[in-house]
Amino acid sequence: MIKCIAVHSGYVESSSIGVVLFTHPQGFETLPVAVRSLADAIFNKLHEDTGPSAKKACCKKTLEKDPEAVYCSKCRSTVGERPFDFEAHEDEVRHLLNSTADSFGGGELVDEDGYEWNPWNSIQKIMKLDPSEVHEIQSYGERVLTMMISPELLPEGSRGALQEWVEGIYIEQEDRKKLGLSKYKHN
Ligand SMILES: [Zn+2]
Repeated sequence: MIKCIAVHSGYVESSSIGVVLFTHPQGFETLPVAVRSLADAIFNKLHEDTGPSAKKACCKKTLEKDPEAVYCSKCRSTVGERPFDFEAHEDEVRHLLNSTADSFGGGELVDEDGYEWNPWNSIQKIMKLDPSEVHEIQSYGERVLTMMISPELLPEGSRGALQEWVEGIYIEQEDRKKLGLSKYKHN
């Protein structure tokens, strides 16, 4: 059972010194499902106002009136489909480590069942977990958490690009295997 994912970003000289610990109240039976859940929760938090998954009523209304609209006529959020920028997302995930309570906000990493991934953890709490409940992504956490986004969350035009991107970038082969990504070979 996986209840905590510890995320290091970067690799070798770009490795982060610090680590972000995300805990989940219920836990997951398998690693790929756990990592995907966290990847999706982070995606949803960072991109709640973009793309075809625009959630605000005003943005939905704008798209209903004009499916080609790029900006919401009321709040000016981007509502039209634009290609998903994988590298920009990686950057945002990498910078979670430097977030403050203010910039990150509280309690918003909600999974599809309504449970929250929690990035606020005391070491005492982590130490009460069984070692088998903690998975450590030792390098390139920002890539892993981008690779594992459920394709259906992405704008339609970018879903194929996700696979291409996953095949084009490097993470340890061992990590690829553990995450169920071996079918996408690094080329
Ligand atoms: Zn709007």
